[in-house]
Amino acid sequence: CGIVGYIGYRDAYPIILQGLQRLEYRGYDSAGIALYDGENLKLSKTKGKVEDLKIRLESEITTNGSIGIGHTRWATHGVPNDVNSHPHISNSGNLVIIHNGIIENYDPLRKELINRGYSFTSDTDTEVLVNLIEDVKIKEGVKLGKAVQIALNQTIGAYAVAVFDKTKPNEIVVARLGSPLAIGVGDNELFIASDATPFIEYTNNAIYLEDGEMAVVRNHKKLKIRKIKDDSLVDPYIQELQL
Ligand code: GLU
Repeated sequence: CGIVGYIGYRDAYPIILQGLQRLEYRGYDSAGIALYDGENLKLSKTKGKVEDLKIRLESEITTNGSIGIGHTRWATHGVPNDVNSHPHISNSGNLVIIHNGIIENYDPLRKELINRGYSFTSDTDTEVLVNLIEDVKIKEGVKLGKAVQIALNQTIGAYAVAVFDKTKPNEIVVARLGSPLAIGVGDNELFIASDATPFIEYTNNAIYLEDGEMAVVRNHKKLKIRKIKDDSLVDPYIQELQL
């Protein structure tokens, strides 16, 4: 299980695909990628190996988006199949998420969302989380970062998550509790990954989120890290990686 993300000026697809290949050692049963090119959201996911995803992507991915996320899944909720693979998309079609970990209280949250009119296509806890974020965002009228924070504070479990909103494709929100998450800080580009291997040739500046921290990763902007629980700001510690 692993996550990769990119926001910047390059073509995100090869970076994410290669990143997933470098995270293969972590073990997984399915893989997927979502890319946004400013017009189309392109999603491709499959049970099987990153190599299978690559074959599928060669025919499916026509976009050259410079924002994207990718995932290798180690199934915990829902069998390994194409539908349960990540990324998952919210009911509106706007929010896209990848998640490593487990949302333990997904069942009551799912029931509550169904009561509120939401529907689910997969059996995953992750699809519950992305719709919870969407519900909070609409209900509270808050930005994505805040919605992710409020939603995560309603969950019990473990996660490394990355979420973006295709209606505001200039940021990716990331959060971590119990699963690793590193941010690679380049010039006008940012990388997200379970460890630094996916971005090592692009930047040697990395921030490792600590448990309970989140960040809104925006191109061109100074990175702010906050505690998920109480919203307090944390000084980002940029580590220089040894190449
Ligand atoms: N719990 C999620 C699922 O089963 C994420 C699993 C993972 O860590 O890859 O889809």
